[in-house]
Amino acid sequence: MNARIDVTPDGTREREARLREEIAAWMDAHLSGRFACLRYRGGPGDEDAFPALRKEWERELAAGGWTGLGWPVEAGGRGWSVADQVVFHEEYARAGGPGRMGHIGEGLLGPTLVACGNADQRARFLPGILAGTQFWCQGYSEPGAGSDLANVRTRAGRQPDGAWRIDGQKVWTSLAHDSEWIFVLARSDAQSRGNKGLSFFLVALDQPGVEIRPIRQMNGGAEFNEVFFDGARAEAVDLVGEPGDGWRIAMTLLGFERGISTLGQQMQFIRELDWVIEAAKEAGVDGDPSIRARIAQAWAGLRVMRHNALRMLGAQGANAAQDKSALIYKYYWSNWHRDLGQLAMDVLGEQANFVDSATSLMDGITKRSRLQGVFLFSRADTLYAGTNEIQLNIMAERGLGMPKEPRGQA
Ligand SMILES: Cc1cc2nc3c(=O)[nH]c(=O)nc-3n(C[C@H](O)[C@H](O)[C@H](O)COP(=O)(O)OP(=O)(O)OC[C@H]3O[C@@H](n4cnc5c(N)ncnc54)[C@H](O)[C@@H]3O)c2cc1C
Repeated sequence: MNARIDVTPDGTREREARLREEIAAWMDAHLSGRFACLRYRGGPGDEDAFPALRKEWERELAAGGWTGLGWPVEAGGRGWSVADQVVFHEEYARAGGPGRMGHIGEGLLGPTLVACGNADQRARFLPGILAGTQFWCQGYSEPGAGSDLANVRTRAGRQPDGAWRIDGQKVWTSLAHDSEWIFVLARSDAQSRGNKGLSFFLVALDQPGVEIRPIRQMNGGAEFNEVFFDGARAEAVDLVGEPGDGWRIAMTLLGFERGISTLGQQMQFIRELDWVIEAAKEAGVDGDPSIRARIAQAWAGLRVMRHNALRMLGAQGANAAQDKSALIYKYYWSNWHRDLGQLAMDVLGEQANFVDSATSLMDGITKRSRLQGVFLFSRADTLYAGTNEIQLNIMAERGLGMPKEPRGQA
């Protein structure tokens, strides 16, 4: 059994086959030589692998025209449909394409600037994101503001020259140490509470007044950080929208984060299920009825996710707003992935308890380590971009019309 999925809607089979061939041929030709060691590396849980080389890979992808696939053409993108993007990500995963260093810029900030930024901001930032020369991180969460994001305390004060002074602390900031810029949700009206009085700033990280401290995780990696602002400066032109507009812009970005930006990551799950299947065969548990059933369920779940992506992410305008079933999107894939991590451990059995000591980044990484990585990191999937409990609240309130839970004073 192989987890590969080839579903082609009628009438597009030939075009899709050509597209697949083109992507596969490009990946084969380019993910070689000095980039060969990047195969199957990077991505969630393995973000520390080869960061400098993966940034070069971003430029290679950009030169090949493979960035901004879903961005509008007028923003420098290729205006691809969700269906074509799914095909790209499937072929990218199949070829062992590495985790994308540029995904926060390309997947989150870029589309948000297209939707909410001004022409000057689009002109200054979108080309660098598309070219793989400028890397971004996300400054939302704080020690007292995670699920309750409206509780952010980082302050932004207007300076006499129109710029903004930023003071405060962000936490869990993925890839801050590998980024040049951070987008920051900060309180620009000191008297405000809740989601009022917040603003959305683009802040250069390389300046006095910004300190980045890594957070070491239990899997040994340090993909995220604390970021401290002590009199950091955001230029007047780097305020997105108007002062006080921050919550609307932050939610626009969160919509991308919970939706289309995860497409590439989900398509990588196909190869993770392949590893689980291989491990089951190697461990001789592929005949175990319970393991077989869970593998089959996982495969069915992958097909559901693909269908969800095409149906929910492809919906436009009014359709998208009315389709409340889209509220399940993040909840479904993240829980599916968490179950896959558990299945991987059960397939490995007692082998799951051993850590491969000889593995070095240059030598590659064993299947056991990869599956342990899937298990450990998939615990985080049901947290970031909105925890399970928050997603269920959203479904109950927005999807099913249940009373809103009490919130802090706005
Ligand atoms: C791998 C990873 C990467 C991340 N990267 C970034 C990043 O780059 N930038 C960034 O800004 N943030 C990032 N985060 C932070 C992430 O957004 C927060 O972890 C998330 O919003 C939850 O906030 P919290 O950790 O403060 O938990 P809390 O909000 O303190 O929640 C603790 C528990 O309480 C539950 N809970 C909270 N409120 C409610 C409620 N109203 N009803 C029911 N249950 C509730 C939660 O579900 C959770 O189980 C990342 C997190 C992870 C795991």
